[in-house]
Amino acid sequence: MTANRQTARRNSVAYPKSLWAAVTADGPTYHTLDGEATADVVVVGGGLVGLSAALQLAESGVDVAVVEAVEPGWGAAGRNNGQVIPTLTQHDPDDIVAREGEAGERFVGLLRNSAQTVFNTIKRLGIAAEAEQTGWMQPAHSSGRMRLAEQRVEQWAKYGAPVELLSRDQVREMTGSDVWHGGWLNRSGGLINPLALTRGLAQAVMVARGRVYAHAPVYGIRRDGDRWVVDAKSGRVTARALILATNAYTGEFSSLMGTPATDIRREIIPVMSWQIATEPLSAEIRQAVLPKRQALTDTHRDPHFIRWDVRGRLVTGGALMNPLSGAWNLKTHIARRLNELFPGRFEAARFEYAWHGRIAVTPDHFPRFHKLGPDAVGWAGCNGRGVALGVSVGKELAKSVMGVPDSEVALPFGPPTVVPYLPLVKAAAPLAVAFMRWQDQREVRDRPDA
Ligand SMILES: Cc1cc2nc3c(=O)[nH]c(=O)nc-3n(C[C@H](O)[C@H](O)[C@H](O)COP(=O)(O)OP(=O)(O)OC[C@H]3O[C@@H](n4cnc5c(N)ncnc54)[C@H](O)[C@@H]3O)c2cc1C
Repeated sequence: MTANRQTARRNSVAYPKSLWAAVTADGPTYHTLDGEATADVVVVGGGLVGLSAALQLAESGVDVAVVEAVEPGWGAAGRNNGQVIPTLTQHDPDDIVAREGEAGERFVGLLRNSAQTVFNTIKRLGIAAEAEQTGWMQPAHSSGRMRLAEQRVEQWAKYGAPVELLSRDQVREMTGSDVWHGGWLNRSGGLINPLALTRGLAQAVMVARGRVYAHAPVYGIRRDGDRWVVDAKSGRVTARALILATNAYTGEFSSLMGTPATDIRREIIPVMSWQIATEPLSAEIRQAVLPKRQALTDTHRDPHFIRWDVRGRLVTGGALMNPLSGAWNLKTHIARRLNELFPGRFEAARFEYAWHGRIAVTPDHFPRFHKLGPDAVGWAGCNGRGVALGVSVGKELAKSVMGVPDSEVALPFGPPTVVPYLPLVKAAAPLAVAFMRWQDQREVRDRPDA
């Protein structure tokens, strides 16, 4: 049941015109869902989580079928900045353990190893994902945030992560910018081409005899006796177990109301994040800015993030207060930001690609993991940190549907938590960007010690 990929491409949903889409080799020829199919496990969503879960299952000899609305990597997995970051945005290990107990301890272990897991997976499978394990750094934008960096280093060192505190001079030398007060580094992090990784995982699933159905938007998920039935546009998959991995794009193709996805839709705030990439830049600029090519995301609430790709492009981005003004607004905003960080360096640089994707944000910035019914699991809420996390989460979700007891799964499962007044919260999301920027500015200007 395969179909020509080019035919599939003519589907009505456009693939985002990102840097990654432009430079990445095509994925494999995916399966076409045409009529009735069965599997032991059905995975809805072909992003990093769904494919990582499917790979774990297929390599364990389980008959698995991924059902993806467009193509693997169409969602956040193929659009992100490609920073491999082995932490959550806000929660440090002691906090996670205090909140989640023994499951929290296992989850901290998963997070600590998550970047290494990505690089090991890429190496083991031979995926041409432009992987560079150069480390991930978080510079501090105020002296108060420097204390946060100290706390993070202390915390992660206690749990065995390869971290170090960076002085102001070290950060200046590593970044070529004088704006930051210091920071910290996790040496296990780094860079990938996210679309190449996602397509590579899809290929590996298929090599391991899993099926990856593309262009099969799911509009219904229901229980029939002891089976899960997933109804898609052109067919149906019936399976013993279900993994729901649609994250920030839950509800994009169909409301999925009345299905286990309903609760997931209600517990996340989908937030638009914009990405932009320059033309390939000179060796002189690449030597002056981040010469050792770390992934960088700083401590601003509206984070400043930058990285180099293997072709010498700077890939950066941010949130926009008025998303309707799109790429033009983004270029002005990012050019100004780069000039503040690296005065004069990027004045002549042209931007060649601009795109956006959706991040699933939770009110407390903690990801959510759920049992959604008999032999059914799902997750949501990456909060912008889902590359390293996602690959490891997929493996754990797979273990769970294979019958591994919760006490051996490194995820703190819990019930869905609905965001109160969600439609209002979603409408106000652009205002939140303004508020975060105001707080960031205030912290630096009015309260240098904050
Ligand atoms: C712009 C941007 C930049 C980011 N940068 C980083 C970064 O540098 N580092 C980092 O760690 N994280 C980053 N993230 C977060 C990271 O990309 C995500 O956490 C990660 O990709 C989540 O993977 P996923 O598999 O859960 O979701 P996705 O990759 O979004 O996959 C979900 C899939 O479900 C499919 N789907 C949805 N509904 C249906 C349906 N009804 N039927 C069938 N299929 C369906 C979608 O088509 C999609 O392919 C970024 C995110 C964005 C948007």
